[in-house]
Amino acid sequence: LFKRFWDACRLNFNYLGELFHENPAFVIISWVTTTIQTLFPLVNIILPKLVIDAVIAGGKADHVVLLVLILFAANAAYGLFNAFISSQYLAVRGSLSCMRFLTKISRKAAELDLAQAERKETRDKMEMARNVIYRGIHNDIIQLVSGTISALAMIATTIGLLASASLWIVGAIVATSVLCTVINFRIERDNVDLECENETIMTQLNYYEAVLQGKKFIKEIRLYNLGGWIEMRCKETIDRIRKNITAKNRKWSGWRAAESLVSNTMNYGAYLTYALMALTGTITLGDFTMYFQAVSSFRSNFNHVLSAFAKVLLNAEYIRAYRDFMDLSSEMITASLPAPAATADTDAHTISFDDVSFRYVQDGPLVLEHVSLTIAPHQVYAIVGENGSGKTTFLNLLCRFYDPVSGTIRIDGQPIQSFDIQAYRNYFGAIFQKFDNISFTLADNIALDHPFDASTVDTLMQNVGMLDYVNTLPDRYQTYLNKDLDDDGVMLSGGQNQRIAIARAFYRNAPFLLLDEPTSALDPMAEDALIRFILSQAAGKTVFYVSHRLASVHIADKVLYIHNHTVEDLGTHKEIYARNESYRAFYDAQAKYFK
Ligand code: ADP
Repeated sequence: LFKRFWDACRLNFNYLGELFHENPAFVIISWVTTTIQTLFPLVNIILPKLVIDAVIAGGKADHVVLLVLILFAANAAYGLFNAFISSQYLAVRGSLSCMRFLTKISRKAAELDLAQAERKETRDKMEMARNVIYRGIHNDIIQLVSGTISALAMIATTIGLLASASLWIVGAIVATSVLCTVINFRIERDNVDLECENETIMTQLNYYEAVLQGKKFIKEIRLYNLGGWIEMRCKETIDRIRKNITAKNRKWSGWRAAESLVSNTMNYGAYLTYALMALTGTITLGDFTMYFQAVSSFRSNFNHVLSAFAKVLLNAEYIRAYRDFMDLSSEMITASLPAPAATADTDAHTISFDDVSFRYVQDGPLVLEHVSLTIAPHQVYAIVGENGSGKTTFLNLLCRFYDPVSGTIRIDGQPIQSFDIQAYRNYFGAIFQKFDNISFTLADNIALDHPFDASTVDTLMQNVGMLDYVNTLPDRYQTYLNKDLDDDGVMLSGGQNQRIAIARAFYRNAPFLLLDEPTSALDPMAEDALIRFILSQAAGKTVFYVSHRLASVHIADKVLYIHNHTVEDLGTHKEIYARNESYRAFYDAQAKYFK
């Protein structure tokens, strides 16, 4: 247990360090505040005793008035301090620092490789990391240090006060407190484990709720009336949490009752003893109130320190998840690799696959096996093959979203892993199969973080058949898409959205263009016009074009036929049709529907 606690402390300090680094003023002011808040009750323990003693002794009125005025001034100042510093400054700074950490977590998520991001383990860690913040750990952890130190100071002071009356009462109080601590500590430790267990169940609940509220399934939920069905799953999850909690509560309720009995016995035992002492004149009436206040202050500070122990342990579990997540780093992004060397014709690059095999999941099946081929520049390649044969996977490997499990992909003769990944990826413009636009402005969606050049964009929009539409919008390219960020945002049709995505892919003006079903949302006539545009713009570029439409093999220079988990053939449509039986069957099977 000691080791666990020690590790937990280190994690807590580590996080506090990060918090301090982000916002030192906030941390320091919080510390000062907690210290004042913990120590202030001393005023209300000592001053009332002086007042009562002065009254009983029949002292001068102005002495009593002065004491009460001091008591008033101290409490009034303390109230003002809390109102301004604690409620305003700290609450605001606290939530701002939480927002900052949430952004850090999201930024980290965007940095990870696709393979990492797709793992449930990664998402669970991220969820835990976000929960660290939502649970208010920032205030907790700051107060932990100053709060515990001040509470220890208060414990020492109150023991000192109480010792002047009777040592054996102090002994009894400390002994019973230690006993209660031992009981509480075991309960709390169990609670920590329980909370962590429930947290994992909570991620499921959060997912169900996201499905209910989110856009992904918005139509299906309504069409098939699925609200109740998903709600059932939420209820089942809540029920699991409830059962967990009830089981733990049942286990500890007897101990809780015992703890409460011991602590009440001690409290009122002390009360009675001090009352008797006052009665016999051993202590004054002022002493009596002071001692009783001191006992209750001792108890609450003792509990404070105790709960700090439990908090350290609990925080540690969350911080560990936060750290685990924040310590993840892309396995592909390596510092200080060079960019691929420029070629005389900036768009002429040759990519080759040398015995490349790939699987998505460890121990899973190979999706592509032993792929060897050379991609000559300035050509249009149609990638064809059955559903699930690996066409998108091939593009994923080209973009280096994943690394092959064996074999080498080279650009201009050099392995792509030897280059800075971002510099390499800059060679690609793409429209992905599951393309989407973000709910930013049209300009943002086309230029992204690059400077927006209006005349280039106008030409592009003209070519993808969207300029007339843009001209109908009062704010033109400054119009928002969707309603997430702006109520006046426009909702585009599937085809319009796809045209914007195409414009974006072209705006980058990259040497390679990857088009995964780029016209799937368009009608055949629009598709024809758009393909013509794409190909006219693609002169000088190397284009990979995945399409279910048969026409794609005729417009391409080369067909890349994926079959049996590999690129089975590469050549012009005529060549492969003549020599590859399986391609012929694949082509003919589709062609008969178009006769
Ligand atoms: P295609 O584009 O030819 O339809 P894909 O390349 O998308 O096929 O998929 C090839 C195979 O890889 C399929 O069996 C698919 O289930 C699997 N697959 C695709 N993406 C992933 C992924 N991210 N994780 C695990 N398996 C995947």
